[in-house]
Amino acid sequence: MSDGFDAKGPLGPVMERRRLLGLALLFAAGAPLPAAAQQPAAGRGRAPLPLVVIDPGHGGRDPGAIGRAGTQEKRIALAVALNLKARLEQARRCRVLLTRSSDVFVPLGRRIEIARQRQATLFLSLHADSAPGARGASVYTLSETASDSLAEALARRENRADAAGGLRLPSVSPEVQRILLSLMQHETRTGSERLARLTVAALGQQVPLLPNTHRRARFVVLTAPDVPAALVEMGFLSHPQDEAALNRAAHRARLATALAEAVHGYLGMRAAGLGAAEG
Ligand SMILES: [Zn+2]
Repeated sequence: MSDGFDAKGPLGPVMERRRLLGLALLFAAGAPLPAAAQQPAAGRGRAPLPLVVIDPGHGGRDPGAIGRAGTQEKRIALAVALNLKARLEQARRCRVLLTRSSDVFVPLGRRIEIARQRQATLFLSLHADSAPGARGASVYTLSETASDSLAEALARRENRADAAGGLRLPSVSPEVQRILLSLMQHETRTGSERLARLTVAALGQQVPLLPNTHRRARFVVLTAPDVPAALVEMGFLSHPQDEAALNRAAHRARLATALAEAVHGYLGMRAAGLGAAEG
């Protein structure tokens, strides 16, 4: 399904248009353009590799969920994130940035800012929460209305990590802001849905999945209007078998393998300019 936008450039139509809309939004607000936009895109050398932001959930004073055996979600999330980063860097198809690389507290709003400021190509948040009866990996994308009560409960839980977050828009006419934002969000949502589909498919090859694996809810950490994003519950620490599995390095390696495959799949589609080919 094409939306009538043709682009032949290596960046693909979706990224190009989303960036353009982002700059228009800044311009409308009279804000200085970000440094990256003022420089020639390719410069003398090659364009930099796309930036992937990996977000290990929780950290520091916020341990996240705690399993019956005492496993802390923040530690599992960081362990998989570091493993995934190493795999992606070894493959040299993207640059990788973690929102935290040690046991520190990072507010949700800051995590979003990190991805937006660096104009990340995608944002992947890693978790292993607690939910009664639930078992297996699942993937979440942003939606104002939750797809089901589990997704809603998880979003409520995650959003408690800090009260702030969300988006501060520059002061421009509300009408202009609304239109630009809505266009940009549409592009971003398409990317997020694609990222989630690829992630579910890759995880399914490696680990048990929660039924209805792709769910939707209003996770604050996924609200950047210009960065495609998904949140992965790699399993549930409230389930003893999931907790045991998440404590095994081999299982975490399988998760990282699947996530790297999903990221590479996304980058591959983007490079091939298939951005507008599906909704
Ligand atoms: Zn979590």
